[in-house]
Amino acid sequence: MPDERGFLAQDEKRKVVEFLQSKWGDRARCQGCGESHWGVGDIVVSSVPMSGGGGLVIGGPTYPFVVVFCSNCGQAAFVNAIVCGVLAGDPTPAANPPSKEVSGGQ
Ligand SMILES: [Zn+2]
Repeated sequence: MPDERGFLAQDEKRKVVEFLQSKWGDRARCQGCGESHWGVGDIVVSSVPMSGGGGLVIGGPTYPFVVVFCSNCGQAAFVNAIVCGVLAGDPTPAANPPSKEVSGGQ
């Protein structure tokens, strides 16, 4: 589990790499450059949902992601942190209603 700041420990990052090797296998080539040297980001990140009006929904349901990036060209992919075993829980967003919306402007 990431620490209180969202940082992954080295053994968690290694487990993500092992998970991806087991799932992606030889297909783990970067779509951008064709290399297969991947890094795992230090922090777990989150998506921010958008309302129909274009505003950001703060405190609403989200997906937690581990960032995986090509060490050669920087192309990045997001892997669900629950599916890859970094976080416990259901990999779908919580059914909780959003608590606050930030206006999209105008
Ligand atoms: Zn690449």
